[in-house]
Amino acid sequence: MAKQDRERAKTASLRRELLAWYRHNRRDLPWRRNADPYAIWVSEIMLQQTRVAVVVERYQAFMARFPTLLSLALASEQDVLALWSGLGYYRRARMLHKAAHFLASQHQCNLPGTAEELRTLPGIGVYTAAAIASIAHGEAVAVVDGNVERVLCRLAGWEAVGRTGGAALRRKIEGLAASLLDPEQPGDFNQALMELGALVCTPRNPQCLVCPWAADCATRGEHKTRPRPGMVSREVAHGLSVRMGQGSGREVLLEQRPASCTVMPGLWELPALLDAAVPEDKLRMTVRHAIMQVNYYVRIRAVFEDDAEALTVSGGERRWVPLNEAARMALTGLTRKVLHRAHLLPTAQLDAIAPEPVPDVV
Ligand code: SF4
Repeated sequence: MAKQDRERAKTASLRRELLAWYRHNRRDLPWRRNADPYAIWVSEIMLQQTRVAVVVERYQAFMARFPTLLSLALASEQDVLALWSGLGYYRRARMLHKAAHFLASQHQCNLPGTAEELRTLPGIGVYTAAAIASIAHGEAVAVVDGNVERVLCRLAGWEAVGRTGGAALRRKIEGLAASLLDPEQPGDFNQALMELGALVCTPRNPQCLVCPWAADCATRGEHKTRPRPGMVSREVAHGLSVRMGQGSGREVLLEQRPASCTVMPGLWELPALLDAAVPEDKLRMTVRHAIMQVNYYVRIRAVFEDDAEALTVSGGERRWVPLNEAARMALTGLTRKVLHRAHLLPTAQLDAIAPEPVPDVV
């Protein structure tokens, strides 16, 4: 297959997998039950800088009081601000009210149909315009918020936007978002990608094992970001070997750090790999773990029992440990994090660790 055909097939499969995941996992949010452009506009403005849980509550009261664009335009600013109470950033409410006035007096209460026109309204930036145009009007325009940036950086294996080179990376992310966008279902695709970032590809603790894009993801876990001043980044790799034990469930191969170690002597950890560069098809996950001034990007490779001697560095004492016993051992923080994330420790609960997303500023 030619390179172009392979790229096309990969894009088609990424779209399919993401949309199928979204159909089964999307949260039932009030603004998703309504195709009215006005309702979508209100929700997008509220979601700027405000948590979804807070917006759900305030949105319903706001829409009950101002069910149409005209009702909002005719309201006094004091009424609008009162209904905005609890959401903060009141400038958003003033801009929304001002734009409603303008649309009611100049455009017969019709919201513009394209992202370009929407951007001319008060309070609507690039992100919000793209979200409204794609969701309410089906325009094929990609939305890039903080969630989308993070997911695409990880998918492509790009270092996160920093103080230098940020604009170039931002352009690459926008290009990738535009090429992945499903032109047949742009609104659903944009919402699906943001939902993936909010529920699965979270800033901390991404749930790669249940991610629809895991097979194509270059990072499979936390991606590299520019270290804060005074911090340095280091890449290391560890092997994860799991086997069936003698009647007591699964066992994991652990190694005890020698007593002579200056850092964490005597603690148990996953054996270090001989080669820190893990081939992409063998990569299980990437975990960021900070110890003092060092940000470790730890690549975890699944290692078969037979390969454990050949692929891992022999350090201290090594043992196959039943998983329920491992949970009670003195594990290093990194090893505990990996075993949790791989759902190998009994207390790992996917629902308990899916955090509430915080939408990005427009
Ligand atoms: S595999 Fe992991 S890092 Fe990659 S997109 Fe999915 S959740 Fe994010």
